[in-house]
Amino acid sequence: MEEKTVIPEATNFIEQIINEDIAAGKLRPEQVQTRFPPEPNGYLHVGHAKSMFVNFGTALKYGGKCNLFFDDTNPSKEKTEFVDAIRADIHWLGYEWARECYASDFFDTIYEFAERLILEGKAFVCDLSAEEIKNTRGTLTEPGIESPYRGRTPEENLKLFREMKAGKYADGEKCLRAKLDMAAPNVNMRDPVIYRILHATHHRTGDKWCIYPMYDYAHPICDYLQGVTHSLCTLEFEDHRPLYDWVGISLGFDPKPRQIEFARLNITNTVMSKRYLKKLVEEGKVHGWDDPRMPTLSGLRNRGIPAAAVRDFCARIGIAKAQSECEYSYFEACVREYLNAHAERAMGIVDPLPLTITNYEGEEELDFDKNPTDEGAGTRRVKFGKHLLIERSDFSLDPPPKYFRLKKDGVVRLKNAYIVRCDGWNTDENGNVTEVLCSYIPESRSGSDTSGIKAKGVIQWVNAEACVPAEVRQYESLLRDADYAGQDFSERMNENSERIFAGAAEPYLAEAAEGTPFQLLRTGYYKTCTEGEKLVLSEIVSLKDNFNKK
Ligand code: ATP
Ligand code: MG
Repeated sequence: MEEKTVIPEATNFIEQIINEDIAAGKLRPEQVQTRFPPEPNGYLHVGHAKSMFVNFGTALKYGGKCNLFFDDTNPSKEKTEFVDAIRADIHWLGYEWARECYASDFFDTIYEFAERLILEGKAFVCDLSAEEIKNTRGTLTEPGIESPYRGRTPEENLKLFREMKAGKYADGEKCLRAKLDMAAPNVNMRDPVIYRILHATHHRTGDKWCIYPMYDYAHPICDYLQGVTHSLCTLEFEDHRPLYDWVGISLGFDPKPRQIEFARLNITNTVMSKRYLKKLVEEGKVHGWDDPRMPTLSGLRNRGIPAAAVRDFCARIGIAKAQSECEYSYFEACVREYLNAHAERAMGIVDPLPLTITNYEGEEELDFDKNPTDEGAGTRRVKFGKHLLIERSDFSLDPPPKYFRLKKDGVVRLKNAYIVRCDGWNTDENGNVTEVLCSYIPESRSGSDTSGIKAKGVIQWVNAEACVPAEVRQYESLLRDADYAGQDFSERMNENSERIFAGAAEPYLAEAAEGTPFQLLRTGYYKTCTEGEKLVLSEIVSLKDNFNKK
């Protein structure tokens, strides 16, 4: 009896195309195969997270496979360091590849296929320089000019191509071109170069080759040899699809992989091209590829952004054919939502101001919920005392209207503790406030408040005698706002994107494992880390969207 194929419901246009292929009997769902194809010439960024979401996600949906395919046809820019970093980033994001392979694994076959094209009169060796080829390509409105070498016989081409491979010629002296149509409306089809001479040491094949295949020619072959059924890539390759198809048809691939293009992820105030990111690193504008302000996956990881939040973001922005730009605040909202549900709460002070409760003696321990959104999270105990530290911005000598924090004669509730009234303050010789003096209302303890006093504001605090010093790091976007979009990034650098404060934290934060995310009450989401003896609280995302306000 024939088994009925169950086709999963399509949720985007790529899945619709795959479903049509399945319905047409071209393949079964579990035969769906994709590949994630990074070039190992830099670190992955959040745009690649989208590509992984599309490639790994599609394969997962159908019960098929997704390979990790390193597109290493460009030996001068590629390094093993990048290969290792890319692998680590994919694992961090939570994906597993079926097979790891490299374009260079297939160099022998790619070469043999080129000889076959030559023998069939579909490719020729051309002596024009790269410059001359560019100048004879024509324009969108004018056809190109045929190369004077186009008429070489297959035998002559084969001899020259073998000599190219043997190292007889210098870089750029000759190349191999597909013999298509110099009048084709699509410029990519005007006798494109498919092999070039490059005397460079490759990070995997060493000095075995001095000719390297071009991406447009190598990619369809590598897809086919891996068994890729659907080759998912970004829109800039749409105009290259006729060439992708020509290679597959000319070489008789059956089944021929099908290329489908989707829109790139673009995020406001963020540069996402490796070339630019590399420049930021090389010019010392950031601390490295994994600087917490970088949109690289290693940067996000170092920032403390959970991989699950990145996947969630990719799922929510969806897969579309139309180009668009996503607001950075939308990415932050996804991170915030995830951390709100998963991060414990604690108190830390960014810019401490001493507060003394003149009528309080002794000490007591107060209970705090670890995470009020999670009933099972339990509680932690915090020592309360006479000497506290509060946020400097929670006290004002000259309060604006509706200022519900501490001011002269004002009352405020200290989070989960007592209501205090501000009686006075001390200043240094310059008039800066050095200490706030308060009295507390003993009957106002949280949970058993019988004082009848209403305090409109609640502020966080730490115990001055039982706290740990903490360096607090806050971040803003590396680039100033989107109005500057047309300018070079160097003119858009936000010089204030990293700010460092000498803060204080409750000891619970120092006891947490390295890298644990916390919501610092009324402040933001921070991760803990230690540098030597020093506790560092490093901002993951602010508590509210203050991005658009700045
Ligand atoms: P960059 O322009 O940043 O150097 P790239 O496209 O050259 O990126 P590759 O290593 O070639 O980087 O990319 C691997 C895969 O990731 C490709 O299929 C590419 O289309 C995809 N990709 C790269 N950037 C984005 C992005 N912003 N959104 C979605 N997919 C992307
Ligand atoms: Mg690329």
